[in-house]
Amino acid sequence: MTVVALSGGVGGAKLALGLYRALPAGALRLIVNTGDDFDHLGLRICPDLDTALYTLGDLESPEQGWGRRDETWTMMRVTQSLGGETWFRLGDADTALHVYRTQRLRAGDRLTSVIADLAHRFGVEAAILPMTDDQVATRVATDEGELAFQEYFVRRRCEPVLQAIRFDGADRARPTPDVVAALSDPALEAIVLCPSNPYLSIDPLLAIPELRAALEQRRVPLVALSPLIGRAAVKGPTAKIMAELGVESSAAAIAAHYAGLIDALVVDTVDAADAARLPIPTFSTQTLMKTLDDRLRLAQFMLACVRKLSR
Ligand code: GDP
Repeated sequence: MTVVALSGGVGGAKLALGLYRALPAGALRLIVNTGDDFDHLGLRICPDLDTALYTLGDLESPEQGWGRRDETWTMMRVTQSLGGETWFRLGDADTALHVYRTQRLRAGDRLTSVIADLAHRFGVEAAILPMTDDQVATRVATDEGELAFQEYFVRRRCEPVLQAIRFDGADRARPTPDVVAALSDPALEAIVLCPSNPYLSIDPLLAIPELRAALEQRRVPLVALSPLIGRAAVKGPTAKIMAELGVESSAAAIAAHYAGLIDALVVDTVDAADAARLPIPTFSTQTLMKTLDDRLRLAQFMLACVRKLSR
């Protein structure tokens, strides 16, 4: 049995960790957004892939919510003293990974191979798959003009009012052979859409035509977990973005956003009444993931929903 999960960064990785622990070793294939990737201080940085590596590799920093635990910050301090750019915080251990990746990419290796080798070194027994080895760059049109994703998300803390989002290069990008193989594996039993930001983290995957087509042509159930609890996001700008794009932040809007793609939506119990009116099957449970047990229980719930749909 194998399960594919689609994820962005920290929010998605919470459920991905639950699935990783709930499934037999080797069964999870996590397809990860690369639209946030960028070049900074001469290094290739892939925030969502690294979040997946650190989370499944049990190296993440729960207090910070990103990066590695037990970091040191000498590189940032020295960069600051030199008058360099420090708006994107890079810990020393994290930076070592970016240096390693940048070197290998410059030597001509595929991003997929680099991430697979890192996952192996971190003892991760799941496939962590970049959605593509081609470059896709998320860019946002705002009331302050068009911004590169990290300029908007980190440097400007999502403050500019968002008007539109585009995924530069997505129309020409191809999913990797590894992604295609994961989605066409005869042992595949389910596809889980993690509760990542639909607009910034999941849409880049869906903007790659062959990847969207492979998802649409699946033979197994695709079940999504809503990133909203009530009308609010647990963390991050999902609800703010929905308001700015003129969409109400609700389970119904999440279902409408993924219409034609998902077979069922899992929502929080506070949204159960709202969700009952949706045109697709919905399941409700507590969806706030604070502890590892919460992640595991919710992952098991998602898999149980898939089994109900498969019957
Ligand atoms: P980012 O790329 O690091 O911002 O993270 P993602 O895009 O993967 O995830 C952000 C989304 O995850 C936000 O919309 C949150 O509401 C959602 N999220 C975070 N934690 C939880 C949780 O415990 N439960 C649910 N249902 N959603 C969550």
